[in-house]
Amino acid sequence: MMHSCAWCGQLVVAGGVEQNGKRYCSANCARLSTAPSQFCPDCIATTTDKSTGNLGRLNGIGVALIRKGSVPPCPKCQSVVSRTWFTFLYIPLIPMGTYRVLYRVQQRLAGRSTFFARKLKRAEAKPAQSAAAG
Ligand SMILES: [Zn+2]
Ligand SMILES: [Zn+2]
Repeated sequence: MMHSCAWCGQLVVAGGVEQNGKRYCSANCARLSTAPSQFCPDCIATTTDKSTGNLGRLNGIGVALIRKGSVPPCPKCQSVVSRTWFTFLYIPLIPMGTYRVLYRVQQRLAGRSTFFARKLKRAEAKPAQSAAAG
C-alpha cells in the first residue's frame, strides 16, 4: 500500500520508517522531522541575521550555496557551514559569504529544498571544536 512521507511528502511504495505513528520514506526524514527547526544558541551566537537572499543559477551561471565538507554539522542543530559562490558554468569562481545553513527538506525533492541561513560573523570562522562543551 502506498502512503506519502510525513516529512517530505514523497510517495513511499514499500518500506519506509514508522515513528510516533507517522510514516516516513527514510530514516533521514524521520530524523529531520524531530530535529530542531531552529539554530541552536551556539550557532546563533556565531552568526548574524543576514541570510543568503535569493540564490539562483541559469545554465550554471549565478550564485550557488556550496557546503564546506571539511566542517562537520553542528551536533546540536545539524546546521552545516556553507559558502555562497559566484559560479560560471558550474565552476565556483568567486567566494561571497560563509553561512550556517539549516536544511528543512530533503534535497531529493529537486529544487524544492528550503533552508535557513545565517551569515557567520567572522569570515572563515574556526570549526567549533573547542566550543562544544557546555
Ligand atoms: Zn521523506
Ligand atoms: Zn547549532
